[in-house]
Amino acid sequence: MDFNLNDEQKMMRRVAAEIADERFAPKAEEMEERREIPADLLRFLAEQGYFGMFLPEQYGGAEVDFVTYALTIEEFSRGSAAVALVVSVQNALVGKPILMYGTDEQKEKYLARAASGELIGAFALTEEDAGSDAANVQTTAAKKDGRYVFNGHKLYVTNAGLAGLFLVVARTSPEAGGKGLSCFLMERDTPGFTVGERFDGMGMCALDVRRLEFENCEVPPDALLGAEGEGLKIALASLDGSRIGVAAQAVGIGQQAFNEARRYAGEREQFGRPILSFQAIQFYLVEMATRLDAARLLTLRAATKADAGEPFSAEAAMAKLYASEAANFCANLGVQIHGGYGYMKDYAVERFFRDARVTEIYEGTSEIQKLVIAGKLLRG
Ligand SMILES: Cc1cc2nc3c(=O)[nH]c(=O)nc-3n(C[C@H](O)[C@H](O)[C@H](O)COP(=O)(O)OP(=O)(O)OC[C@H]3O[C@@H](n4cnc5c(N)ncnc54)[C@H](O)[C@@H]3O)c2cc1C
Repeated sequence: MDFNLNDEQKMMRRVAAEIADERFAPKAEEMEERREIPADLLRFLAEQGYFGMFLPEQYGGAEVDFVTYALTIEEFSRGSAAVALVVSVQNALVGKPILMYGTDEQKEKYLARAASGELIGAFALTEEDAGSDAANVQTTAAKKDGRYVFNGHKLYVTNAGLAGLFLVVARTSPEAGGKGLSCFLMERDTPGFTVGERFDGMGMCALDVRRLEFENCEVPPDALLGAEGEGLKIALASLDGSRIGVAAQAVGIGQQAFNEARRYAGEREQFGRPILSFQAIQFYLVEMATRLDAARLLTLRAATKADAGEPFSAEAAMAKLYASEAANFCANLGVQIHGGYGYMKDYAVERFFRDARVTEIYEGTSEIQKLVIAGKLLRG
């Protein structure tokens, strides 16, 4: 497999790195404290084409490949993992599924507005009794006079406070399991739909993650995305692509933990010399760099397969599983190399340590990635 980047991919990576270093990193701490991503930063991202990354030009999109997407999310995550996640959800969990499964009318109605940043999107699958067991969604979308009536709730919906459009998975048939689920495009101002309480997370505090409530909330039949009964299939296929983004996000967090630790180790002196001269510290950095390289290669392999139109579900799961563990390993050693200073909020490694944790949990826990991989490895 060829991992050489073409000129456009290199250029996109360089631009994303500059944006991360110049616009995200200096504001990351403030965004964390204020628990928000400033509107002007979101506007800037939209203007630069980062809200329509997979979308064709006719909708104002940049139509980049998965490799470019992964490189961009990795670089963005070095500056702010929270900002990178907003970009990732908008592209992989909202724009892409509408492009893949939407009707012409749905594409016309939403995609240009998503690319321009007028519409931020959110993806709503998880419920109290449907986390890892996604097929157990209990929110109902019952048919009444040709319309769908929603009742139920959703948990942990990223971007919910900002979003104007929600991709919601709901049960259209009492049939057990995934075959009774369907996907819908729900607008924020739909009567009976409430964006509820905000969750207070361990890390990525600038993210707006909320509960949703549906109470006799009616949508017209053209809100259905794809066919009835295809909801779980659409959600899981979208998560396959999005896991490449989470893997890239993890690589970015781990890489910046490495960068900060490398710099600090060169400056900090103990026993009359820089701690970088101690072999123990060098070995920590070597282990971090080696795992990051492996994680990046797994991520690029999954992205390359996706770009080639080949099945990539197990490869994306492997990339996410390994990269998220690598991010936590690197963030942990990043703190260790900083000593007591690394435990304090004055240094960015403290944030990376908290931000890295969720990459092993969201968009399918590490245990669920192992189930996906086992399904492919052990089939037959
Ligand atoms: C910050 C954040 C943002 C999120 N954003 C979104 C979003 O935008 N949209 C959305 O729909 N969801 C979102 N989620 C939800 C996330 O995807 C779920 O939390 C995740 O899938 C795990 O589900 P759960 O929390 O119910 O854990 P559970 O499924 O209850 O899992 C608990 C533990 O049991 C393990 N476990 C469960 N089943 C098995 C099994 N069969 N074999 C082995 N181990 C198992 C899990 O791996 C885990 O360790 C978000 C979560 C967080 C924390």
